[in-house]
Amino acid sequence: MAVINLEGRADLESFDLIVVGAGTAGCTAARFAASAGLKVCLIDLKDRRSIGDKVCGDAIGKHHFDELGLPYPRGDELERRIEGIEIYSPDLKTVFKVKGEGIYGFMINRHLFGQRLLKYAEDSGAELRDSTRALKPIIEGGWVRGVIAKDMKEGGKAKLQGRVVIDATGFSATIRSQLPPEMGIETEISREDVIVCYREIRELREEMDRPGYCRIYLNLKAAPGGYYWIFPEGGRKVNVGLGVALWDGHPNPKSQLYGNVLSSPLFEGSSIIHLGGGYVPTRRPLDSMVGNGIILIGDAACQVNPIHGGGMGPSMIGGRIAAETVVEALTGGDGVPSRESLWPVNVKYMRSYGAKQAGLDVFRMFLQHLSDDDLNYGMGYRLITEEDLLKVSMGGDLRLNLTEKTRRVFRGLGKLSLLRKLYHAASLLGKAKRIYYNYPSTPDDFPRWKTEVEELYSRARSLFKK
Ligand SMILES: Cc1cc2nc3c(=O)[nH]c(=O)nc-3n(C[C@H](O)[C@H](O)[C@H](O)COP(=O)(O)OP(=O)(O)OC[C@H]3O[C@@H](n4cnc5c(N)ncnc54)[C@H](O)[C@@H]3O)c2cc1C
Repeated sequence: MAVINLEGRADLESFDLIVVGAGTAGCTAARFAASAGLKVCLIDLKDRRSIGDKVCGDAIGKHHFDELGLPYPRGDELERRIEGIEIYSPDLKTVFKVKGEGIYGFMINRHLFGQRLLKYAEDSGAELRDSTRALKPIIEGGWVRGVIAKDMKEGGKAKLQGRVVIDATGFSATIRSQLPPEMGIETEISREDVIVCYREIRELREEMDRPGYCRIYLNLKAAPGGYYWIFPEGGRKVNVGLGVALWDGHPNPKSQLYGNVLSSPLFEGSSIIHLGGGYVPTRRPLDSMVGNGIILIGDAACQVNPIHGGGMGPSMIGGRIAAETVVEALTGGDGVPSRESLWPVNVKYMRSYGAKQAGLDVFRMFLQHLSDDDLNYGMGYRLITEEDLLKVSMGGDLRLNLTEKTRRVFRGLGKLSLLRKLYHAASLLGKAKRIYYNYPSTPDDFPRWKTEVEELYSRARSLFKK
């Protein structure tokens, strides 16, 4: 990369890869690319010490650390170990207690975890430019050649050129949102696929009971299209928040949290330690995450679990796959990082996490359009069992627990349509996963695949909205 000051001064430095955004996705990509010998520039609008400080539920599965070979959090970075999750029905009469290998995890200090990932990236040789905001991509002849960035300390603008640019700017997707249509990448995502959240970290008067359990509450009146959560952190601290779907006329998640959750006796006399809001793209990954000279990862590529909104793990998976692919593209073959040579990012991500996301996206659409009444009955009669829920969350198929007796009960209650929708959800969930596992190995077959995907999700939307 030549770093060219917009006034014309240029230095002789050159980078192979510019990673925009030093979150979980960007730090991981920068680390793996730099450790393979690439010259990497990692930029973030935050100052070095604030990197990693993000509003989050702070929960992450242990399996992500195992898959990435990351040491488990410890010391101040570890708030608490998670043994399981309790999921409450809207009337609070049914509680699903889900535990098992796939659920074990950690409540982390998000800021310290982010700082650790940044250290890994820098120790591997990536050069950090903090307090630097990427303004827009440099696009020439259908290729992304770098970014225009603003130095937030000195105020000047710089033209940063790189052979490949990775957009890891999170939900804002600064680079993605400015790509031209011929790149073949979706620049906008639907509001229907976004959850807007508000959360606080609070100190309670006393430690919660069963502190190893994260609580998720389904309640469409309190959290339409989303849920609210209470996750115990270290000592008397809890992470409490609420997310609602970004549908037209959606309520304010902060007012909903205050009106429905923080007003309960548990929070009497509690104090605020940290507060804030944010958006989560809770859908399947973008259909394609690559173009000539550009890759998208993390929230910018919608690499988030659509059911619970966990995105730290998948964003790191996306980061590593992107780095490995860039290394192969620049050091093997013709060394040209074209859309074709970066295509393995799509194939590998879909197989490792995207197919699971695609299936869970169907389930998310199903859940979002149920009523509280449906949820109470469905959970009360265990139409899906805890074990099956665990399997689905791990990427398995959705098995229904329907007996002739349940069918009769639901017929008597006039709720047969709920059973029908559940059947459709199970069948479409499996189909979505298969389509994503069979992601086209080259861009040639992509238009056919995309049509198949569009048909499946428009069918899901129309079936569940009725
Ligand atoms: C309220 C809430 C609760 C959540 N709870 C959980 C949870 O419990 N578990 C979980 O796994 N996930 C959770 N998530 C999701 C998770 O936080 C994200 O999926 C994850 O952080 C994605 O990482 P990322 O690297 O893609 O983006 P981010 O972590 O958002 O990082 C993006 C980085 O890019 C930088 N940046 C942005 N724009 C620019 C620019 N123009 N120029 C330079 N730098 C830029 C930002 O400063 C930031 O450092 C939650 C999200 C929210 C909002």
